[in-house]
Amino acid sequence: MRTPVIFERSRKGRKAYSLPYSDIPEYKLSDYLNESLIRDEIELPEVSELDILRHYSELASRNFSIEKNMYPLGSCTMKYNPRINEKLSRLKGFQELHPLTPPELSKGALQLMYELQEMLKEITGMDSATLIPAAGAHGEFTGLLAIRSYFKAKAENRDIVLIPDSAHGTNPASVRMAGFTPVTIKSNSDGFITADEIRKHLSFRVAAFMVTNPNTLGVFEPEIAEIIEILHENGSIAYMDGANMNALIGISRPGDIGFDIVQLNLHKTFSAPHGGGGPGSGPVLAKKYLEDHLPDPKLILENGTIKLQSSGESDSYRIKLFYGNFSVMVKAYVYLLMLGKEGLEKTSKMAVLNANYLKKIIKSEYLVSATDLTPMHEFVLSAEPLKKKTGIRALDIAKGLLDRGFHAPTMYFPLIVSEALMIEPTETESKETLDKFAEAVREITEIALNNPEDLRKAPEKSSCRRVDEARAAREPVLKWQRGR
Ligand SMILES: *Cc1c(COP(=O)(O)O)cnc(C)c1O
Repeated sequence: MRTPVIFERSRKGRKAYSLPYSDIPEYKLSDYLNESLIRDEIELPEVSELDILRHYSELASRNFSIEKNMYPLGSCTMKYNPRINEKLSRLKGFQELHPLTPPELSKGALQLMYELQEMLKEITGMDSATLIPAAGAHGEFTGLLAIRSYFKAKAENRDIVLIPDSAHGTNPASVRMAGFTPVTIKSNSDGFITADEIRKHLSFRVAAFMVTNPNTLGVFEPEIAEIIEILHENGSIAYMDGANMNALIGISRPGDIGFDIVQLNLHKTFSAPHGGGGPGSGPVLAKKYLEDHLPDPKLILENGTIKLQSSGESDSYRIKLFYGNFSVMVKAYVYLLMLGKEGLEKTSKMAVLNANYLKKIIKSEYLVSATDLTPMHEFVLSAEPLKKKTGIRALDIAKGLLDRGFHAPTMYFPLIVSEALMIEPTETESKETLDKFAEAVREITEIALNNPEDLRKAPEKSSCRRVDEARAAREPVLKWQRGR
């Protein structure tokens, strides 16, 4: 049933407030304002306090969230966000700190940011950092601006950035926005990039190779060390999209692998909530030689004092007002301190174990792995065999999962896999939940084989039934109209 909008609950004269009698004389607005500027009737809902509470509680209960059930959205690392993060990020001193507070009066916040920056350097094996970028994509963009600034300073005219065909869509977008031209590198049949393929594309126009590792099939790039070597011989930079770091923390460091620069997604790997357009944080970590090319201001320790410093050089640049999304940094900081070095390593290992366990128990000849290699923290299945046999697509499976209380996995990404379902359980799911998820997938496959028509009706239990995807995107109904 459709939930009424709050205007439909409205009853003339009903109120959610009671104000004391006012002893201030009434004035007529029209004595002060031109009539044409005065609205005679404002259509606001007239509801009681209980009406409001019930209305919004009802709406909130319709939201899917990690608190309700598993959220296997591949590439997004939808792990549990510990409540302690929220609690500490809302400490009065943090929450009410104005961004223009002078450094002498915001020492605690500066200290936290500095310690976070140092921990992230240690985790990634890098020498320099900026915490400013507000999301992963913003971090990519910042990293690419640093690369552009570096080659500009060397007076080298490099305009191409190589990107695998399995890349996240933000990669080529960031490359374009930073003024480079993306050139696509084909993955081999196992879904990884070979050194030979890179060799074919190298020239003195290549500024960088930008690669997610483990890649979007969840596979650690087997030839990455050799690839980085030939990039460096060519004077090009190795950029790692670190959105998949949940598989690597405490086990392998991008800096040790040979990467020159990486962005992290604090809102994925480090347990800050994301989705719904909330704040994110995409710190960029780089080798020493790129330090001067990171944006201003820089967070530095000088004579025992932590401060934000802008170089003021003509080629310095800013990417955001102030210094990034502080509350997300607090959450990541708390998470890091809570887990410690050993805890972080265990986190990655559990994430990899969970993904591999789940992959193993979803066995179906109709849902096949996108690669023969062993994935790390996530895996991609292709529903192509099921589609051939029954006409049921990855989309229908995802809708069937909604009816069984799960969030859908990521679909139709990476683009190199047809009918892709990308599944990332993360370390925070228990064996019992993974078993239930696999059972739901098995049940759905069974229905696909026997009664495919039933599946095409899914979802039948969620608050919104199946929509016409194209129309929903092109003609969204965002406004309630009386009598509609
Ligand atoms: C999520 C993601 C991004 C972009 O990060 P945002 O924080 O969403 O901007 C980039 N690359 C990969 C592989 C990702 O999973």
